[in-house]
Amino acid sequence: MRSWPTPQIPALPRPVEPHPPIRVHDSTTGELVEPAAGTTARFYVCGITPYDATHIGHAATYVAFDLLHRAWIDAGKDVTFVSNVTDVDDPLLERAAATGVDWRDLAEEQIALYREDMTALGVVPPATWTGAVESVPAVVEAVERLLADGAAYRVPVEPGAGGSDPHLGDVYADLTADPEFGSVARLDHETMTALFAERGGDPQREGKKSPLDPLLWRRERPGEPAWDGASLGTGRPGWHVECAVIARDGLGLPFDLQGGGADLLFPHHEMSTSHDRLLGDGGARVHMHAGLVAYEGEKMSKSRGNLVFVSALRAAGVDPMAIRLALLAHHYRAEWEWTDADLAAGAARLERWRAAVSGNGGPDAGATLAAVRAALADDLDAPAALAAVDAWAERSLDPARDTSGDDEGAPGVVARTIDALLGVRL
Ligand code: ZN
Repeated sequence: MRSWPTPQIPALPRPVEPHPPIRVHDSTTGELVEPAAGTTARFYVCGITPYDATHIGHAATYVAFDLLHRAWIDAGKDVTFVSNVTDVDDPLLERAAATGVDWRDLAEEQIALYREDMTALGVVPPATWTGAVESVPAVVEAVERLLADGAAYRVPVEPGAGGSDPHLGDVYADLTADPEFGSVARLDHETMTALFAERGGDPQREGKKSPLDPLLWRRERPGEPAWDGASLGTGRPGWHVECAVIARDGLGLPFDLQGGGADLLFPHHEMSTSHDRLLGDGGARVHMHAGLVAYEGEKMSKSRGNLVFVSALRAAGVDPMAIRLALLAHHYRAEWEWTDADLAAGAARLERWRAAVSGNGGPDAGATLAAVRAALADDLDAPAALAAVDAWAERSLDPARDTSGDDEGAPGVVARTIDALLGVRL
């Protein structure tokens, strides 16, 4: 799938001390870990289902992982970022049916909007960006292999389903084939069952060996799109195996980190990691999750309809860099509520920073750059990074300041620091 343009990332002065190790919160252990200690970093972030454009909650997640991406680039690592778009899935088809729009047109329009939003927000694009539809041949091969290995089984479909081969049935993963299942989220059975039902699973489906077994291949249904599934019969991929296969093919197995919003930890990341364990040498070694953003008292979600769209803010003339700064003012793991005050604070900070870097010279910037680097290395502490830049800007704008020791290059270094590490173009 065609990605969006890569923003220019200015080079920064090398640190005097060795670059601080970049640590993030591991959702499995709750500890700070260094996911990519070597010279390479390979990570996967779960993408959107394109039936509603990028809302602030999505933007917060993708900006959080963009900070990690930028910190790794700054540390000199060879970074590979892979992501997906779930461009065929139940919610997309339901929305298309409800609005009378062809599902392909809906997906295309929303993907285009997402691309524009990511470009405007300065998010560095993935090296490989694969759609679920594009992944079909690889998913078919993977599911055939799981069936052959006894790690998957067929479940009969209802009358009328299954196209010309109704006897082939849907395919589900047999979780008993993976003794390590449950090791990502480490939840008890009751919690897993509740979350599975709440987040798109089908524990009640008749014919499954266990309620938690996830769908791998959904056979053709009347009125639904379907693709050639070779020995599986016509159908479409399940969501977890889609990400498992796209990550495997884009990064190789195992890889350093998989991430997304906090509601993806279970079942999505548990299941996709389980699939990768059976398809190769394991999935992501570290899982990292961004907190969910609320609006008007509730978690921002499509089902509740309480969404603030990045594209709507842009259309209203809001500077996307003010949006980015509004997001960065909250730690990525925080659960927070978006209000108009966030945007006003982002816009005010942007204006102050622009004024501060427009002078001829300013206070030395070396400590500010080091502080931003250190803040990001410490579990992507964006609020601390903003505070370091704020402190420099305040000194720079202080009319009573003694300017005799000013450094002519300081405003440029600060502007490049903000651009390269925080993704904010002044
Ligand atoms: Zn995913």
